[in-house]
Amino acid sequence: RSKEDGRGTIRFFEPEMDKRLRERHAIQQDLQSAIARGELELYYQPQATIGGGIIGFEALLRWHHPSRGLIPPMTFIPIAEESGLIVRIGEWVLREACREAATWPIPLQVAVNLSPVQFRHGDLQALVHTVLLESGLAAGRLELEITEGVLIADFGRAVSVLRRLKALGVRIAMDDFGTGYSSLSYLQAFPFDKIKIDQSFISNLEHNHQSAAIVRAVVSLAHGLGLPVIAEGVESSAQLEFLTRETVDEVQGYLLGRPYPIKHYAGMIGHQPDAAIMAGRTG
Ligand code: C2E
Ligand code: MG
Ligand code: MG
Ligand code: MG
Repeated sequence: RSKEDGRGTIRFFEPEMDKRLRERHAIQQDLQSAIARGELELYYQPQATIGGGIIGFEALLRWHHPSRGLIPPMTFIPIAEESGLIVRIGEWVLREACREAATWPIPLQVAVNLSPVQFRHGDLQALVHTVLLESGLAAGRLELEITEGVLIADFGRAVSVLRRLKALGVRIAMDDFGTGYSSLSYLQAFPFDKIKIDQSFISNLEHNHQSAAIVRAVVSLAHGLGLPVIAEGVESSAQLEFLTRETVDEVQGYLLGRPYPIKHYAGMIGHQPDAAIMAGRTG
């Protein structure tokens, strides 16, 4: 498509990049009013013990854009982070997840993702404390998922915020483990409560010996430190069998259930299944 010479290539990409930038800007503009317009929604994906016992749900953010439709978090979260909007959005996510979980008849846990930007702005510990009080959710039912980006950004501050969060009684999980560079030293610097093995290793299990070796090593490391391990992105029973043999503690993935609005999981949280859900199950 591009011309053979270098200049042709540049001419080809320039308008493309310009279009991308304008698109990004447009998305950022729309995102500013997304909360007020009620366009954000949390989906919930089940997390279970390797034996199948439900533990709780991870809250995953969805944006129903009025004209673009459903925009995935991978698209709008980086934009929200760059513009600082993630601070308000993250606050909304935390409030909404805790408010929702507090209504569940069965006291399952809820896991909420935090952005590194939330650690750098505002008082996260005060926010979590307030939200727990407002919602009435027991601190022990809230798990906060962070990636190592949180620790890379400002190590000293992040560790002190994390300690204060733990002092509230919430748990801290390290998300996407194995994808960064210095995960091992971070495990020593902060007492995480759980390690989430990144889904890229799980999806490669069947075809890639390295992935199997990495999963095995992460489990051995985590268990050596006394930490439970959850595998993300479990899609097949072959993967589940492998993870069971490797003594992974918990699983999350399409095999158990996709992220859906919580009403899809009404039965799991202890609500009487209503007619619509029954129809969905048999249909
Ligand atoms: P994450 O926290 O690692 O979440 C797991 C992602 O894997 C989710 O993508 C989930 O839908 C997807 N997933 C779960 N099981 C499977 C599976 O079996 N196969 C495959 N292929 N995918 C699976 P999602 O919902 O698109 O979210 C992507 C990322 O966006 C999240 O990764 C997280 O980093 C970020 N994110 C989502 N919600 C929030 C939020 O409220 N706040 C912040 N800061 N980040 C969020
Ligand atoms: Mg997560
Ligand atoms: Mg993850
Ligand atoms: Mg991820």
